[in-house]
Amino acid sequence: MRYVVRADGDVSESFASGHGVLAGDSASPILWIIFMCDLIFPDDPDDVSLNNVPVSHLEQADDIVLFSLKLRILEAWCAINFLCINVKKSSGMLFGPIPRSRPVLTLLGSPLAWTESYTYVGVTLQSTHRNIFARHYEAKARKGRSVAHVTLGLKSMVGRLPPREGTHLYMARVDPHLIHACDIIPDVDLSLLAQLEAVQVTFLRRLLGLSACSMRAFLSTETGLEPLQYRRIRLLLRFLKYALASTDHLIYHAVQSSLALARAHCPCWISDVVWVASSMATSLQSQLNTSPLALLPNGRPAASPVLRLREYLQVPIPEHRLALTRLVLADHCLAEVRLRWAERYRASVPRDSRLCRFCEECVETPVHALFECVADEQLCVLRREFLADMLFHMPSLREDTVGMSNIEALRHLLQLRKTLPLLARFTHAVLKVFAIRAPALFLNGTLAV
Ligand SMILES: [Zn+2]
Repeated sequence: MRYVVRADGDVSESFASGHGVLAGDSASPILWIIFMCDLIFPDDPDDVSLNNVPVSHLEQADDIVLFSLKLRILEAWCAINFLCINVKKSSGMLFGPIPRSRPVLTLLGSPLAWTESYTYVGVTLQSTHRNIFARHYEAKARKGRSVAHVTLGLKSMVGRLPPREGTHLYMARVDPHLIHACDIIPDVDLSLLAQLEAVQVTFLRRLLGLSACSMRAFLSTETGLEPLQYRRIRLLLRFLKYALASTDHLIYHAVQSSLALARAHCPCWISDVVWVASSMATSLQSQLNTSPLALLPNGRPAASPVLRLREYLQVPIPEHRLALTRLVLADHCLAEVRLRWAERYRASVPRDSRLCRFCEECVETPVHALFECVADEQLCVLRREFLADMLFHMPSLREDTVGMSNIEALRHLLQLRKTLPLLARFTHAVLKVFAIRAPALFLNGTLAV
């Protein structure tokens, strides 16, 4: 087949194409826009008005939205341009109060079907829910969950995903579903947002090997990935900035129209954005500062960014990395954390009673397990071997840690990238020693609470 392009009376040379109109190249949408430029609807009182600019229709290539009753005009334009409307793929939506008997609209003589939900340009709209994007949230959460499961399913073929590669895969495959259309959808319904957040939280917990009891703030502070609520509002605000600068686009008039409503104290898109931005949760750093579970992450140098993929997550041996991760993020098997949570037949144990299962004198904390407890010979042997290894690789360690408490020394060790694999191996071995013995409150088969 051969084509020519005509513009302003000029006709191009003919050219051959064996593939019809190319999909995906930049020329095809432009040619389609040129083709449709004489589809003009006269202004109508039923048109949508944005900043006093009437908007009667929108087009995404050949997907057309009409905002008022102009079906006859569309039929006539298609007839003289050799186009055929697909009635089966066309439908009508009513927003606002739905009348008991819906009007009958016809297209090419056939009645137009009414629908309560429709997906246009990838965004699903619903006319029967108080939030017209409710089904969009559901659809994107479903898709994101499915992709997340497939991505994490790689474990059965390649072993546990390293966090760095896992976060890359998350951003490439899962995140696009969770932020889809977030630049136009303020998250005013937290229950809808929670569906998307659950996908992110579950993915990151499984990637790091943490339980459902682990602190959510860690999932961002340790991987460098923003919490979804922050990421979505940040992208929305960036789009708002773009819209306010795009004075020749309809989106500019849409924002101005919404601003006028906001100034008149009417509920609108801008007032939703303001509400979302002003009701954000407390900052991640303040969550860490006030949590007893963040003793180790809180000791980082002040210059360390809040969001960052941490060095200890890059320890190469998965079992060792997992043990160190759980120790740092207070999701380990030691009594300080394990007895914090209530379980069936046992209430939460006060911190002072979460005693070491070996010496039964001190609270069983990571520092006590790694550096202090001398009630088990195996622990002492592991500790001596670890310190010998550390001094071999870092002879200045003793001088570097003079005057530090044990918790400060552990925080210092977590900053030493070179010896993190040694610390992770030691942690793995120590936790293994503790794991094979029940916590002190369970000794002799009796419950203390
Ligand atoms: Zn002890």
